[in-house]
Amino acid sequence: MRIDIDTARCEGHGLCAQVAPQVFDLDDDDLVILRQVGQIPADLEAAAASGARSCPVAALSTSS
Ligand code: SF4
Repeated sequence: MRIDIDTARCEGHGLCAQVAPQVFDLDDDDLVILRQVGQIPADLEAAAASGARSCPVAALSTSS
């Protein structure tokens, strides 16, 4: 699984980082960044998907 970020949509709500802090974080400008580079490890896929679904502005999407 990979996570794709639409940075232009991110409003820095931080829900993704609250739901899945192992996968998502916020940078100094309160925009989402990924803690995992490239492919998400299998043991974090469920958390990553939950975090992506939590975004209220649909800035996060998953792909295989
Ligand atoms: S939940 Fe969405 S808007 Fe909020 S920080 Fe994460 S990606 Fe950005």
